[in-house]
Amino acid sequence: MEFDLINRIAAQARTRNDVALGIGDDAALLRVPSNRELVACCDTLNVGVHFPHDAQASDIGWKALAVNLSDLAAMGATPAWALLSLTLPEPDAAFVDGLVEGFMQLARKADVALVGGDTTRGPLAVSVTALGFVEPGRALRRDGAKLGDAVFVSGMLGDAAAGLRLWCSGVRDPAARVLFARLHHPVPRSALGMQLASVANAAIDISDGLLADLGHIAERSSVGIELDVAAVPTSAALIAHFDEAARRTMQLAGGDDYELAFTVPPAHIGELRAIADELQVPLTRIGEVVAGSGVRVRDADGRWLESSISGWDHFGKSST
Ligand code: ADP
Ligand code: MG
Repeated sequence: MEFDLINRIAAQARTRNDVALGIGDDAALLRVPSNRELVACCDTLNVGVHFPHDAQASDIGWKALAVNLSDLAAMGATPAWALLSLTLPEPDAAFVDGLVEGFMQLARKADVALVGGDTTRGPLAVSVTALGFVEPGRALRRDGAKLGDAVFVSGMLGDAAAGLRLWCSGVRDPAARVLFARLHHPVPRSALGMQLASVANAAIDISDGLLADLGHIAERSSVGIELDVAAVPTSAALIAHFDEAARRTMQLAGGDDYELAFTVPPAHIGELRAIADELQVPLTRIGEVVAGSGVRVRDADGRWLESSISGWDHFGKSST
């Protein structure tokens, strides 16, 4: 079965002129620019865990690449190449065509070449390896946050978790399509990530929830982070569907937004505003880096919320 499927995939694949040898041999041959570091990441989507059983094939393909390009964006990297590992319960050509179509839609947008992969039988899973470049020493790491940095996020938070909650309770109402799109068709912040490389001290993409992901920056950077929950950017769609308490949980603990959270020294905030204007991306200041450890959240009246990170933990991907 696999050869036929691989031919179908190869027929849809796109290449770039830094690919010396793509799909068809035992491995791909890729030309890494001599003045760049290679940035590599790999993320898997499992059916029933990372996407629902009734998700569209093209959305699964799109999202499998998107979550990886989001990781590259969070490193400040420019994406270049990807490998696609497919585990399929049966050789379903129509499903594979749809999946690869969604994958390629984003690959074209991001100028990513599909250079190889693997195709095997088993419970449906889609694993992507993405590769990109960064100037040596300029990658955005989790361990770079400094005392006094401002904490920013891109876009709006909580929409994907809201979409998930509605979808799982059987809602298919077109009025919620903005939220479903954020869940099934996340757009990685690639252009923003590349520009942040010269402005931010630390960055992460929000895949597991704002508190959990900022917790990684705090831990790796040996600092504390204080957030103002009232400052967290909220979409009109989220407000239309959920009350404040539900919104707060989804914004602080919901995963799958694939926005970037990052810390910026005060001296760079002007530059950051210029980037937001140029890219037309909302960037919102939600907190600051302080001495100490962990993430603390203040409400609109300045009171600290009870919830610890572990208290929110369960609403992550595992509940999908
Ligand atoms: P091997 O047995 O040497 O690993 P495969 O038969 O698995 O070779 O793959 C043959 C070629 O097809 C390789 O170049 C591989 O990278 C590519 N390939 C296999 N599956 C996929 C896939 N799902 N997407 C893209 N390329 C694939
Ligand atoms: Mg193989």
